[in-house]
Amino acid sequence: MTHQITKELIRDLHQSRPQTIEDLNQLKRDLAKRYGTGIISHTTLLGTYRQFLADEKQEANEDLLGLLKRRAIRTLSGVAPITVLTKPYPCPGRCVYCPTERNMPKSYIASEPAAQRALQNKFDPYDQVRNRIDQLEMNGHVADKIELIVLGGTWSFYEKDYQEWFIKRCFEAANEVNSETLGEAQTINETAEHRIIGVTLETRPDYITEEELWRMRLLGCTHVQIGVQSLDQAILDLIKRDDTVEGMAKATKLLKEFGFKFTYHIMPGLPGATPEKDFETFHMLFSDERFQPDMLKIYPTVVVQSSVMYQWWKAGKYKPYNEETLRSLLIKIKKIIPPYVRINRLIRDIPGNDIIDGNLVTNLRQELQREGVSCQCIRCREAKGQKVKLEDAELVDRTYASSGGTEHFISFESPDRKTIYAFVRLYLPGNSKQAFVRELHTYGEMIPVGSEKKAVQHTGFGKRLMAETEKVAEANGFKKLAVIAGIGVKEYYRKLGYRDENTYVVKTLEK
Ligand SMILES: [Zn+2]
Repeated sequence: MTHQITKELIRDLHQSRPQTIEDLNQLKRDLAKRYGTGIISHTTLLGTYRQFLADEKQEANEDLLGLLKRRAIRTLSGVAPITVLTKPYPCPGRCVYCPTERNMPKSYIASEPAAQRALQNKFDPYDQVRNRIDQLEMNGHVADKIELIVLGGTWSFYEKDYQEWFIKRCFEAANEVNSETLGEAQTINETAEHRIIGVTLETRPDYITEEELWRMRLLGCTHVQIGVQSLDQAILDLIKRDDTVEGMAKATKLLKEFGFKFTYHIMPGLPGATPEKDFETFHMLFSDERFQPDMLKIYPTVVVQSSVMYQWWKAGKYKPYNEETLRSLLIKIKKIIPPYVRINRLIRDIPGNDIIDGNLVTNLRQELQREGVSCQCIRCREAKGQKVKLEDAELVDRTYASSGGTEHFISFESPDRKTIYAFVRLYLPGNSKQAFVRELHTYGEMIPVGSEKKAVQHTGFGKRLMAETEKVAEANGFKKLAVIAGIGVKEYYRKLGYRDENTYVVKTLEK
């Protein structure tokens, strides 16, 4: 669907009298209906309206202009996350805790917010992305940088044709134009208004092979989420995870050697677990170099009716942690989270009605924060839109051993280390001379691509960090630096002297 903005549409707009953003949004909906266009973004309307005024030598409708010019809201991290779900499909797993609802991909519950949106759109990838972008823009948000998060059962278990079609349709929805091939859709997206700057896929560790990771790269994937759940083999066996701690270590090493950033899902309170055993899992995550995840989603185990575990619970063979046990465990865990890890979720967003037994407190993170439980994870330290003078930011380089290589977490932080403005994850593998930038992230108020305004995003942290990263890689004897750049950020790196190579952007490092 392309937006055919006709002169009639703009004339109607010109003659309207919106007084509030709500009026303007209603007007946009009316125009979209009348002219059969999609919802047109504020930015596009503003540009076209100005052109119209110049062409027609008309006086501006000041109310309208004022509303159109009002700066759209950005999410604090600057990136608009869009979550889409794949169609219901069998999963090779037989995990006892997993919800198995009809009409839902395995492990999802129909009442979860993202699942509801997917259901409304009949799991169509194009409609899910398109509707979400429209919704964001109608609420006055900017959606020019999109992190596409694909959830559902085990991604790697879906047919390959479906995978490719699904991702292609997501890019087409962002581009608002159809393409012959996925590659063409990705190329168009590199310079599109709605750029997909990263793609997250979710899979099982035992499906991660070199071949699978190459396929994920071709789809544009930059971030992999894997269900680890526990590093206690006895617990894994009991919950029928059909995987081993050693297997997870192997998958993790491959992810690092491909330069992916990755998230572990961990479930405290599984059958067979004790708070001591769960704490040991978290301790191992960051003391054993075979693991070291970048991000965590902590999902305390709850009983849902559609899981096998429900029968265990009914028979009195299983009981989730009570609130007090869970709370004190999470406090202990938060205290050992290293400063280079981001806790993305502390609780899964399962509506209370669906929880038969287990934690019901969904704002646990905020509660713990209120109680003064401090956590040095990235999420708790992110700069929230504040502008910062470069001289107030210090460059920090933290290193740790990681799956036979070395990781450098290089960041700009406040002198007291309580605020983080930007960071790079640089992986120096033990088995090759090519280093990887797995992630570059700057926080703060974001200004649309190409704008010159000085917010945290544009004080040059990104460029400075990349220059520092190149130096560190070179000083360690690395000949080449590869960045696992999302489709929508390749342009950024090309401007920094990087060239395209095998789905990455690379730079030769030389003295
Ligand atoms: Zn934290």
